[in-house]
Amino acid sequence: MYYLGIDVGGMSIKVGIVDQNGSILVKDKFHTGNERSYQEIIRDIGEFSVNMIEKSGVGIENIKSVGIGIPGTPDCKNGVLIYANNLSFRNVPFREDLKKYFNCPIYIDNDANVAALAEAVAGVCKDASISMTITLGTGVGSGLVIDGKVYGGFNYAAPEIGHMVIVEDGYLCTCGRYGCWEAYASATGLIRMTKDIAQRFPGSEIHRICNHDLGNVDARTAFQAKRAGDFAATLVIQRFTKHLATGIVNLINLFQPEILAIGGGLSKEGDYLMDDVKKIVYSEIYSKDPVPQCRIEYAKMGNDAGIVGAAFLGL
Ligand SMILES: [Zn+2]
Repeated sequence: MYYLGIDVGGMSIKVGIVDQNGSILVKDKFHTGNERSYQEIIRDIGEFSVNMIEKSGVGIENIKSVGIGIPGTPDCKNGVLIYANNLSFRNVPFREDLKKYFNCPIYIDNDANVAALAEAVAGVCKDASISMTITLGTGVGSGLVIDGKVYGGFNYAAPEIGHMVIVEDGYLCTCGRYGCWEAYASATGLIRMTKDIAQRFPGSEIHRICNHDLGNVDARTAFQAKRAGDFAATLVIQRFTKHLATGIVNLINLFQPEILAIGGGLSKEGDYLMDDVKKIVYSEIYSKDPVPQCRIEYAKMGNDAGIVGAAFLGL
């Protein structure tokens, strides 16, 4: 049996046919055109998927379920997308409309939950009964999987760990609160801290790297400057590391996942970042040795997490 996974992003919509082990038989994508109407986008999703299944030779009768991962708030029970951050429509009946194309169960969930499910079933959290995956990108996504099932709270909106406050009256977050973890531990937060600190150190390497225009600062700038021994950049990374670790300590204290997987663009800094994060985490978590400890690992599903996790919604 096979499962169809659909990863709806603001830039592209990726579709793949996946087996029960998480191997992708075939995958492809098309441009979202996120300014387009819901009717156009849902029609493209349906037609593109049906074409893919036909061309693959799998046969639509061998597709056990269809899953959709989307950045936003879905009503998983009724298959409705209530809100998506990067699409213009709200309250749209994804499941109902995709039934025109498929005669099998159709599921929908948040993209961060879907990524966590991919890691839990086929990725680095495979053998853990409780696992979490956090994605450090433009924002901070988080998903919690317990015994193979995504935990979404009664209204499917959990867990929004990126929006717990770690600095009261701190940076303004996209959600409207001040001091959310996401405002500090995301690429957006890191860029902001890099600019703030660079302004106070006119001689910093950061200015040279960004051609003396702080508008060019990106999430790698401070790491690059730190590697060159720059003092201001070292300060930036120290602060970023502390903020990242604070959020991780909070969520380990709350949930005690067996494995915590870290993914997203910032995780590519690897041990250069995470060794220091782990030092803080293991010295600050409430339950210390000899109690078994949560393991912090790198997510391994990468760009396929959306397709595979969405497909696994029907497992
Ligand atoms: Zn927030």
